[in-house]
Amino acid sequence: MISTNSKKGIAIIGAGPSGLFVYKRLIEAGHENFTVDIFEAKMDRGSGMPYSHEGANCEHITNVSGNEIPKIVTPVIDWLATLPGDELKKYGIELDSFNSYKVLPRLLFGAYLHAQFNLLLQKGEQAGIITRLHAACMVTDITDLPGKNKMIVEVNGKDAYEFDHVIICTGHKWPLTYEGKIAGFFDSPYPPAKLSVRFNHPIALKGSSLTAIDAIRTLARRHGSFIEKAPHKLIFVPDKEAGKFKIVMYSLDGLLPGIRFHLDDPRLSTESVLSKEDISKNMEENGGFLSLDFIFEKDFKNLLQEKDPALYKRIKNMSMEEFVGEMMSRRERIDPFVLFKREYAEAEKSIARKESVHWKELLAVLSFAMNYPAKHMSAEDMLRLKKVLMPLISIVIAFVPQSSCEELIALHEADKLELISVGEDSHIEVSAGGDKIYHHTDEAGEHYQTHYETYIDCTGQQHLSLEDFPFKSLLKNDVLTPARLKFRSAESAEELLSQGNNDIEPGNNNDFYLKVPGIAITDSFSAVGNNGAANPRIYIMAVPYIGGYNPDYSGLDFCEEASGLIVSDIFQQNAG
Ligand SMILES: Cc1cc2nc3c(=O)[nH]c(=O)nc-3n(C[C@H](O)[C@H](O)[C@H](O)COP(=O)(O)OP(=O)(O)OC[C@H]3O[C@@H](n4cnc5c(N)ncnc54)[C@H](O)[C@@H]3O)c2cc1C
Repeated sequence: MISTNSKKGIAIIGAGPSGLFVYKRLIEAGHENFTVDIFEAKMDRGSGMPYSHEGANCEHITNVSGNEIPKIVTPVIDWLATLPGDELKKYGIELDSFNSYKVLPRLLFGAYLHAQFNLLLQKGEQAGIITRLHAACMVTDITDLPGKNKMIVEVNGKDAYEFDHVIICTGHKWPLTYEGKIAGFFDSPYPPAKLSVRFNHPIALKGSSLTAIDAIRTLARRHGSFIEKAPHKLIFVPDKEAGKFKIVMYSLDGLLPGIRFHLDDPRLSTESVLSKEDISKNMEENGGFLSLDFIFEKDFKNLLQEKDPALYKRIKNMSMEEFVGEMMSRRERIDPFVLFKREYAEAEKSIARKESVHWKELLAVLSFAMNYPAKHMSAEDMLRLKKVLMPLISIVIAFVPQSSCEELIALHEADKLELISVGEDSHIEVSAGGDKIYHHTDEAGEHYQTHYETYIDCTGQQHLSLEDFPFKSLLKNDVLTPARLKFRSAESAEELLSQGNNDIEPGNNNDFYLKVPGIAITDSFSAVGNNGAANPRIYIMAVPYIGGYNPDYSGLDFCEEASGLIVSDIFQQNAG
């Protein structure tokens, strides 16, 4: 057993963006009585999955611009100026015309994060904080020792280290079903190098948002090229040998994602939204539950009143359901590509005039503000959130970058990109012989079965369950518990149960709970034990495993916010 010294030992598992922000918070907290061990499975640090070859090729771009990236050490624009010309040229960056409103190639952003991590390590050293970075070290298990108030971290299946606090930042996970067993079946488009081949036949994509766009950008380049006909107007020219190439996107309700526009507040600051005290007060007045209607009223409608009085006047008496119904029905009435072009034009105007589309920006603010306290809602409100509000939010805050829109429009105009509207029942079937058959029913109720040689699941990072968690000793010893939310009314739970909802389980006091995905955590991301108490030794910010309590969890803003909550909790525990 390798033991750390008399100082508090803190382990960060995973050195992607989450691990980077946790380390930044630790060294900037102004304390010295701790050591940090960072374990990273890869040789690299900082870039994590989306900004390394695991998640990107040269054609993939971020959906945030320099001014939207939380502060690390050096602003992106200053860092770019230190790069050799060849490196910038490789990514098509011209410093003279580059500014902090532009998005970045993801691999270049990964290099930036790597450089920032190195600067943070230097800062840590200058601050006298002992930091050990264990590269190419895969953490294989974690054990809690409550009696000793310690955790044991097992590395590469052999070495064991002892810590006071462990922060799990292991990030994305893409479980495989048929990929690797059935030719032409892909459980995700990652790593994108696997799609860098010529298929030359129709390819089915499940999903139409950012993950699908990643696949489309890669596939398009292997089957033709984009030519700039006029500024911001591309045409797609298929290769002669790729005549049969086509992408067929199966999209829930036939919707395409929303487009990046100018944000008044690029960091979506939450200063104007409900405070911790407001939330506690609402919970006290509301039987211990946070009311979704209250959040919608205060963190959306009230902010809209000042930003867009005309729209506010129209929607002020609408319930959340009525507002979402109005916004969705407008989208559903129009052909998705016609709407996409219209929203592209709206976004161009917004960027040129530096004027936000306020209701969309405020939906992003609402989503960010609601994410953290969502675990305090009743099961009824969580079901409404998922069924009603999240579908609109996830479309609006996709923030598709302009160049991706231009490529999608060019492919559609070249008849190489089709979108099929499907319902929740659409699915892929893999036959015993390995055939891939996509099933869907159209609006008239007609059922279709379409055979494909290639299928790519582009529905993005799925919520994983407690059982999928990689560190098995924590499961075996019941250190973690599944996330669930209490129903306000037993009657509504019983009604859903009678309709066959399998996610409802009875409690001990004639009450009922809704099972939600992943692990139960506190507001500070501590794991919640069997006794319902926070475990002060273990924090979980690995996004796939906390989706139930953090319904809109991803992004660099999440890395910054969650790391802050975790680190202040650790120092509060150890105060004095
Ligand atoms: C394709 C894609 C594109 C995205 N683009 C954007 C964007 O443009 N803007 C934005 O704001 N957000 C974006 N996101 C959201 C993204 O989730 C976060 O920005 C960020 O990557 C999350 O960082 P992370 O460190 O939690 O996870 P990851 O990036 O997955 O990093 C986890 C790290 O932990 C390491 N690790 C895993 N298991 C172990 C183990 N057992 N032992 C040791 N090390 C381990 C991994 O090697 C990896 O380095 C994107 C997400 C995806 C999937």
